[in-house]
Amino acid sequence: MVFDYSVENNNNMSNKKIAVIGGGISGLAAAYSLEEMAQRKGKSISITLFEKNNRIGGNILTERVGDFLIEGGPDCFLSEKPWAIQLCEWLGMGESLLRTNDEYRRTYIYWKGRLRELPEGIMLMIPTRFFPLLKSDLFSLAGKLRMGMELFIPKRKSGGDESLSEFVRRRLGQEIVERVAEPLVAGVHAENPDAMSIKSRFPRFVQMEEEYGSLIKGMLAKRKIMLNSESGKPKWTMFMTLKNGLDELPLTIVKALKMTTIITNKEVSEINKVSGYKIYLKNRDTIDADVVIFATPSYETGRLLRGLNSSISDQLDTIPYVSTATISLAYKKDSILHPMNGFGFLVPRVENRRIMGASWVSRKFSYRTPDDSILIRCFIGGSRNEELVFLDDKDMLKMIREELRDVMGISAEPILTRIYRWEKAMPQYIIGHDERVSRIEQSISKYPDMFVTGSAYRGGGISECIKNAQLTAESVLKYLNL
Ligand SMILES: Cc1cc2nc3c(=O)[nH]c(=O)nc-3n(C[C@H](O)[C@H](O)[C@H](O)COP(=O)(O)OP(=O)(O)OC[C@H]3O[C@@H](n4cnc5c(N)ncnc54)[C@H](O)[C@@H]3O)c2cc1C
Repeated sequence: MVFDYSVENNNNMSNKKIAVIGGGISGLAAAYSLEEMAQRKGKSISITLFEKNNRIGGNILTERVGDFLIEGGPDCFLSEKPWAIQLCEWLGMGESLLRTNDEYRRTYIYWKGRLRELPEGIMLMIPTRFFPLLKSDLFSLAGKLRMGMELFIPKRKSGGDESLSEFVRRRLGQEIVERVAEPLVAGVHAENPDAMSIKSRFPRFVQMEEEYGSLIKGMLAKRKIMLNSESGKPKWTMFMTLKNGLDELPLTIVKALKMTTIITNKEVSEINKVSGYKIYLKNRDTIDADVVIFATPSYETGRLLRGLNSSISDQLDTIPYVSTATISLAYKKDSILHPMNGFGFLVPRVENRRIMGASWVSRKFSYRTPDDSILIRCFIGGSRNEELVFLDDKDMLKMIREELRDVMGISAEPILTRIYRWEKAMPQYIIGHDERVSRIEQSISKYPDMFVTGSAYRGGGISECIKNAQLTAESVLKYLNL
């Protein structure tokens, strides 16, 4: 789906007031899409965006310290989901898009006391190449044979949702669950694969099983299509970022907004409705709006709506969240013996470590450190070890340095450290998530002038948040007859 923002001419002002609550990427992309789509139709609209913090961007947080560029929250977006790249290009940021350093495109898994390379050809968690898998010391021979049997395992007869663990175990066996799928979803989504919905998080795996009867066959077919459609070097790498940091995206959106008033440092405390909406701010100001878009975490949307409709609030509260933290440590290059020959490592739960994984940032992307330094970004918390997020800074650093010592043999003093705690920032798409969200959408549809968008519902990454914000903007304009 490509959103076309090209302009039609026919000037007309709507006197309806649109309120967007939340200045993360979802709220900003919704405001931007509303403006662009309205402008395309020659219409003018009035939007007010409320953000409780004194900065916009929500989870997107980039810090610059001397020549170091540190991402506190997300550090990239997936090119396979094209909406972030499309938006960057539309905003004139095409030149800022930054590929990963392909020569380091390798991931390691910490297994039985040391880092082992994830065999080449494992796409997400599906093996597609025979020889690298055969040579790998990450899996047993029985585990490898079990993966190969996937080609002959019939597809499931009954429909319905399954956990990621059940699905992957059924198709590819237990070793791929515990050594690849579990650490991958813990590292990326902070989720527990035993509870995670396969249908909501990996719908294309379900489609592949349905269409090809096998994930391996499905992935090979997909790879063939990709190779045929690409002549020469593909334009994008799997993970893409922005040269000057991901916060360039929200900052550029803010600069591009013309019909939106952004109010930062103002927390919305409640919403009510008489004829139109009344938005109550924490400082007791009240603002009127005709249409409200909630781009806040679902539990926060629930809190704001409790006075208006407690049953919708209760439904919103059924989407669980977990907390995580990222800890970035920089070192002088010559103090580290580890070759860091990849993008980083993941740690399976069964290894019983406190660290979930780490990105070798200075390998993955250029322009992140001075030449004589390296940067490592570690992940902790999530459904596995949430309590660690609340260690104080001193204990947190002590803990993470012990982990890096054990996993990578690093005992040097870091020259720079940063800790970012993300309290209740990761929505968990547990089994039945799609149905849960459909019920919420149905309840909210009783209010045709109220919309929800954001990472809690239909895709948790930046790119999906952008797509969903664009769809929300379309629905708002449709409601307004614009
Ligand atoms: C540590 C971490 C790493 C991640 N890594 C990646 C990654 O590499 N790639 C990727 O694609 N995705 C990643 N994600 C997910 C991605 O960050 C989110 O999907 C996305 O940023 C969510 O955007 P959002 O606007 O929906 O929500 P948020 O970013 O949470 O924005 C919501 C905003 O609403 C504001 N708000 C809340 N309550 C109120 C109120 N009452 N009044 C006014 N304002 C309010 C908040 O302050 C916030 O600014 C990561 C997330 C985390 C936490």
